[in-house]
Amino acid sequence: MKQLETVIKNPTGLHARPAKVFVKIAKKYQANIRVFNGEKKANAKSMISLLTLGVENGSTIRIEADGEDEDVALAALIQAVEDGLGEAELIGRVAAETDSVQAGSLPEKREPAEVTSDPPPPLDENMLRGIPGAPGIAIGPIYHLKKTEITIEETFESESVEKNQLQTAIERAKGQVARLKASMLAQKADSEAAIFDVHAELLEDADLLGDVIEKINQQQGAALAWQATIDERAKMIAGLDDPLLAARAADLHDIGYRVLRILVGVEGDALGFPDHPVIVVADDLSPSDTASLDRDKALGFCTASGGPTAHTAIIARALSLPAVVSAGVDVLGLENGLNIILNGDEGLLTLNPSDEEVAQAKSKQEAGEESRLAAQEKAADPAITSDGHRVEIAANIGGAAGAREAMKSGAEGVGLLRTEFLFLERRQPPSEDEQFAVYKEIAQVMKNVPVIVRTLDVGGDKPLPYIKMPDEENPFLGVRGIRLCLAQPELLREQLRAVLRATEYGKLRIMFPMVADISEWRAARAMVEEVRAELGVPPVELGIMIEVPSAALMADVFAKEVDFFSVGTNDLTQYTMAMDRMHPQLAGKSDGLHPAVLRLINTTVKAAHAEGKWVGICGELGADMQAVPILVGLGVDELSVTVPAIPTVKAKVRLLNYADAQALAEKALACSSATEVRALVKKTD
Ligand code: PEP
Ligand code: MG
Repeated sequence: MKQLETVIKNPTGLHARPAKVFVKIAKKYQANIRVFNGEKKANAKSMISLLTLGVENGSTIRIEADGEDEDVALAALIQAVEDGLGEAELIGRVAAETDSVQAGSLPEKREPAEVTSDPPPPLDENMLRGIPGAPGIAIGPIYHLKKTEITIEETFESESVEKNQLQTAIERAKGQVARLKASMLAQKADSEAAIFDVHAELLEDADLLGDVIEKINQQQGAALAWQATIDERAKMIAGLDDPLLAARAADLHDIGYRVLRILVGVEGDALGFPDHPVIVVADDLSPSDTASLDRDKALGFCTASGGPTAHTAIIARALSLPAVVSAGVDVLGLENGLNIILNGDEGLLTLNPSDEEVAQAKSKQEAGEESRLAAQEKAADPAITSDGHRVEIAANIGGAAGAREAMKSGAEGVGLLRTEFLFLERRQPPSEDEQFAVYKEIAQVMKNVPVIVRTLDVGGDKPLPYIKMPDEENPFLGVRGIRLCLAQPELLREQLRAVLRATEYGKLRIMFPMVADISEWRAARAMVEEVRAELGVPPVELGIMIEVPSAALMADVFAKEVDFFSVGTNDLTQYTMAMDRMHPQLAGKSDGLHPAVLRLINTTVKAAHAEGKWVGICGELGADMQAVPILVGLGVDELSVTVPAIPTVKAKVRLLNYADAQALAEKALACSSATEVRALVKKTD
């Protein structure tokens, strides 16, 4: 056994990011490796374990290793700590700032600026305003979601019985998590599906399980041992005051509750629903809770926090559950059983509605259902405005199953094939042949309609385990999208070979994500041309996503060289507003109908049309019913949306008059806020 000491220089100690780097290195070695912070000990190969050490900046840690490769393991870990565990630059910067403060140059203190926003239109007394989370109207009594209180009895049969029970419960929990993941994938909610991967990983954390087993060895029953371990770990992690870790603590509670229910036999309706349909009210819902809401019992839901791009709302849309989010804490004070009307289209709640209000809501509900059915019937027809302007409606898909669904729903093409699904959750990249087979299948399923294959869009916040990349301080602004592919040209080259080989089976086009500078586009195009020459295949249409403001502002330059643009409004809004698209508090404000975003789309469309090129929209905004008239009015040629939205988006376009939509878009560009734009659209509805 060997041991060495070292000092942690990272400004916020051994928090999630450096801990992840540490664990990654430790896992490369056979040796058993432990880390000590004073009396506290952690398994160097378990992130949960390491995080709970609470190592702060300046702490001395002791690393102990035993095994054949103990020397190299220790040397590598000490070196990594000295190199800053991926945060060398940050350490340097903080040190420089500290020096300047010590030298007397204190940073200037500023008064916070006053934040003003438009006053929303006045509401009736019995109404509450939130943000539209998922469309549709629900009428019914509210039910405050409370988890079933579980009482754990102190029982202990024998070590082997308790361990068996634990193992069985964990296996069943893994099965449930796998099913939730599959149901999310079936609803095309791919990123929500990934949350359940984290849960599956936590259910396998050797260190966590080791702790439970230790408690069982000390004659504690499986349920008590499990719950105590989850509580201890989650408390430690949450106490470390790091938002990233807080999310891990919530995930731990989520799996903790799941396993506990199985252990004590409280299965089935974990959310304690009454036996009649209700509108669920909660501060926020965990992804597990939302994904498991029973459509027969939950008519819709309303959350006090959250936002329209948070997981909860995305899952609601995938499940067709009307939802209002970010309605404020007042909703939490409403009486259980109070009748309300939840309007997911407008983000409004009507409390204790009059008979007249209920009748109106019911007729809106019926009209909504009728128009949904009518839209389904006409799904295969084109989307042409009343004055003869056609807009193509395409599908956003993530695989061959999505392509089949898209064809059934009337898609006129695939506007966005997210190829990430092929690359994530594996130990090495998919081979060229494996990729070729998938692209070929999709091309064949879509027959003669175009399929836009977006090249790999990962990196930064979505790292690939088989690509060596330093951890980044600002992953959303880091080496991601096309930047990553150009930095790893072999990865892109293989993908391009696979796509180009598949072009003979359909109408494939290629699109590059996150392009911010013309040099990136030119480098990517050059690689396509090189590979095309090698393979001897005919030219394909090449385009870029407009999702970085610089690309929109330079659209006239790009338009001379590309064949098409597709606006990724999710990222374009994020980067224009400087608001993280998944931030639960900002999500409500980060609205793609903000005039700033609309002006960038307008610039893009004008630049493209001046060069005879076309523009699509492939972000969530394309399926936002209030956005459709404006996007059409701005002259967007194609809307590419999630498969279930295709018929309704087509129907919406058919209700429009192009000249009116153009006038509306002009007015929207002159608005001062997203709220104003939405109010403007509502007036014309
Ligand atoms: C977008 O950013 O709008 C987009 C369509 O790409 P993704 O959501 O995959 O980042
Ligand atoms: Mg994007």
